[in-house]
Amino acid sequence: MCVIAIIGAGASGMLAAATAAENPENQIILFERQARPGRKLLATGNGRCNLTNRGCAPAHYHSETPGFADAALADFPPEETLAWFLSRGLLTVTEPSGRVYPLSNAANSVLDVLRFSLRRPNITLRAGEAVTAVRRGDGGFSVETGTGTVAADRVIVACGGAAGAKLGGVRDGYALLQGLGHTRTALHPALVQLTTDPEYPRALKGVRADARLTLSAPRQVLARAEGEVQFTEKGVSGPAAFDLSRAAATGGEKLELTLDFLRDYAARDVLALLTARRETAPELPAEELFTGMVHNRVGKMILRYVNFTTTRSLRDVSDAELKAAARASKNFTLRVRGTEGFESAQVTAGGIRASEFDARTLESRIVPGLFACGEVLDVDGDCGGYNLQWAWSSGRKAGRLGK
Ligand SMILES: Cc1cc2nc3c(=O)[nH]c(=O)nc-3n(C[C@H](O)[C@H](O)[C@H](O)COP(=O)(O)OP(=O)(O)OC[C@H]3O[C@@H](n4cnc5c(N)ncnc54)[C@H](O)[C@@H]3O)c2cc1C
Repeated sequence: MCVIAIIGAGASGMLAAATAAENPENQIILFERQARPGRKLLATGNGRCNLTNRGCAPAHYHSETPGFADAALADFPPEETLAWFLSRGLLTVTEPSGRVYPLSNAANSVLDVLRFSLRRPNITLRAGEAVTAVRRGDGGFSVETGTGTVAADRVIVACGGAAGAKLGGVRDGYALLQGLGHTRTALHPALVQLTTDPEYPRALKGVRADARLTLSAPRQVLARAEGEVQFTEKGVSGPAAFDLSRAAATGGEKLELTLDFLRDYAARDVLALLTARRETAPELPAEELFTGMVHNRVGKMILRYVNFTTTRSLRDVSDAELKAAARASKNFTLRVRGTEGFESAQVTAGGIRASEFDARTLESRIVPGLFACGEVLDVDGDCGGYNLQWAWSSGRKAGRLGK
């Protein structure tokens, strides 16, 4: 018999436990510091759980150790992950973007089938019990909690990262692995709202829009994204903004965010549309210049951005003003202050140095018999189901315990 201690019953820890339990020789003890497993999962995808993405590819992952995630993702890709979940009763649906959700549209369906997978005679779930230290002993480990010490032959650390603090995101995993000789990179909140000069976002609070986003440092484009954005009290949120948050958190000072609200139209086509509007409806109030092209509040904000006098008719708008408005609709620039913190972040950029683990097994190169999976490692994915796919793939690999 081999005793496996798995620390953390989140996405990766539950997959690791179910996988390790396939070998009846293994006796698994799954520690979870919260009262119930998988609390964060229930909040994923706005309660719908975007559990993977059909377009999963290495380019969607980031780490100081490039390519580290590839082996786990190749061994347990989205198709196999979905087959695994299907074999346990989970029906899913794929959106045109490649994002996959449970057919029920409820994250608890994903959690329920995972919890059922833990009902095996060789898995003991110890919820409400935080692991406080892991020590190496002769040929094994001692795992300490507030209520005692457990001897284990193998340990899998699946404690997650610092993101989502309100949902139980803690730094325990880093401390446990650092206590065993591992090191970690700097940590940054990622997949999180960008904070900007608030004047325009605040006036657009609650508005959703489709845009192409460019994040720039002085003389350098850092990242681009496109899709939905949402304006908030302090800045810009939504999937497209999330995709830039890693670069915003790590990109230094004096960053700017440029929004193109008419990404499918060249600047000259936008100008032609505005000119046609002036010609066909000269009597309309000037503030209706963008009506029908973008969200009404966005249209009015673009005009405010270029100091456009709106108390007149379109017939009184000059060619130069039309040009400025067209340009602003494709170059609406905000000064970036930074990002929100770990409390509202979906994922942690950075973590325990991946190079200290064997990518083929996820076993530590420093401590034989010690494994890690999920967000605690320095791997983070883009917005769209990639982080949970890393949790599933790495949990599956760690649960195989090098076999
Ligand atoms: C609001 C929100 C929405 C998200 N939406 C999506 C989405 O739709 N799609 C997507 O792909 N990703 C999403 N993510 C990211 C995704 O949830 C995480 O990347 C993923 O859950 C990481 O899995 P994990 O197993 O590494 O960590 P977690 O799922 O965080 O699990 C870690 C577990 O370890 C436990 N633990 C920690 N320390 C100890 C200890 N000392 N002893 C015992 N137990 C411990 C924790 O309580 C927790 O249950 C979202 C994240 C957030 C916060």
